[in-house]
Amino acid sequence: MEMLDEGLQKLIATVDLEGTTCGLKHSAEDPSEDHPAVDYLCQNLGYDLDGNIMIDAIIQIPVCEECANALYGAEWVLCYCTECMSSQWILKSKSKVRFDNDVHVIWMKECPVCYSENVQQLDEQ
Ligand SMILES: [Zn+2]
Ligand SMILES: [Zn+2]
Repeated sequence: MEMLDEGLQKLIATVDLEGTTCGLKHSAEDPSEDHPAVDYLCQNLGYDLDGNIMIDAIIQIPVCEECANALYGAEWVLCYCTECMSSQWILKSKSKVRFDNDVHVIWMKECPVCYSENVQQLDEQ
């Protein structure tokens, strides 16, 4: 949980975003290419070794104003797969899973798609 909040606090607006469009999921009728990015969502990727966090990568995802607002609000949770960079929005009120109000992003090492691909690869070996 601490990692997630830190990630949100690292939303930075100092980077030149001109020409960049939103890197998060939008609907097919209203694709993310139509949404200019206004901010970055950042997350450190790493492992916690005996209480020491080893950061080996930082991902920066450009986000549009709409997505940034959703990230700060309490209504939506973003699931983001750090393997295939796909994202999925979950409406908290419609979800079977109960999320705390302060949960905004769930970082996944693999999403269901990656998971089934990884399992397939293991089978083929
Ligand atoms: Zn967006
Ligand atoms: Zn994935």
